[in-house]
Amino acid sequence: MESDAKVERMLKSAADGRPITKAEATLLLGLPETSLEASLLRATATAVNRRRFGNSGLLLGQIGVDMAPCEGDCAFCFFAKSNTSIQPALLSTDEIIARCERFARGGAQGVFLMTMHRFGLEWFRDLCAELRRRIPAQLEILANVGDVTASQLQEFRAAGVTVTGAYHVCRIREGVDSCMTPADRRKTIERILEAGLSWYNMCEPLGPEHTPEELVEQMWLGVDLPCTQHGVMQRFPVPGSPLYHHGQVSLSRLGQVVALVALAIIGRENVKSIAVNVYNLVGLFSGTNAFFPEAGEPDEQAIQTEAVQGREGFTAAL
Ligand code: SF4
Repeated sequence: MESDAKVERMLKSAADGRPITKAEATLLLGLPETSLEASLLRATATAVNRRRFGNSGLLLGQIGVDMAPCEGDCAFCFFAKSNTSIQPALLSTDEIIARCERFARGGAQGVFLMTMHRFGLEWFRDLCAELRRRIPAQLEILANVGDVTASQLQEFRAAGVTVTGAYHVCRIREGVDSCMTPADRRKTIERILEAGLSWYNMCEPLGPEHTPEELVEQMWLGVDLPCTQHGVMQRFPVPGSPLYHHGQVSLSRLGQVVALVALAIIGRENVKSIAVNVYNLVGLFSGTNAFFPEAGEPDEQAIQTEAVQGREGFTAAL
């Protein structure tokens, strides 16, 4: 079996240090995930990533601290207000601290605190302040919250809360599969950067129905703006949600998409790691070097549902 010469040239050039272009990325995303060329793509991204990051990895943790029917109403999400039966609940501060300590013992560098799209800013600010006093000093606090205004961010910083970074994404089909607008999502990302916080980004929520063109458009926001982490998150099908019938991508497709991310951000010094949302070896051999496992939420009330049985955490529900 011989590989396509054009693809081979592109990959050789990327391995030599030239980032791939949008047109090349679109072509490479159109390859069948089982093809020889897709395997070469994943192998090239692995080599590029390992050379770039000195074969080192990054572990972060994620804790869902707030659960409620969510106004974001994403058509794929377990918490979407139109589809969920979840009752509002906050995780206790002591439990959050216990989970942070476990992450720190396990070698995590930071922990994302995740809320719904709308969340209590003062509550979150006070929670972060208390955590900063009580969790291991080396564990970074990272926010994964809804859209915020510039004045909210300023208030947050004025309070001296040591949040070092924030996860925020203008999702694939934002505004079509969600109740948020791409413009608002992008504005929040720009505010995060203006506030001097590290911006954590992903190409998500990846599903089988997404075309190479829309994936490239979405992932390039993290090429054009200076993210600290790029990566890919796959979508899990939530029974009863409007997008359930699409199913989910295979690990090899997930690897193919994240391999593209790794080759697109060649030379972007701001990117310190490349992640996939779920722990898997395919990701580690497709150009990633970071994971952010969760601490086992949602709790029992959510575990009753088929959506999260056999899986752990918000990632499955989201
Ligand atoms: S993905 Fe996030 S914003 Fe959208 S419904 Fe779920 S929790 Fe809300």
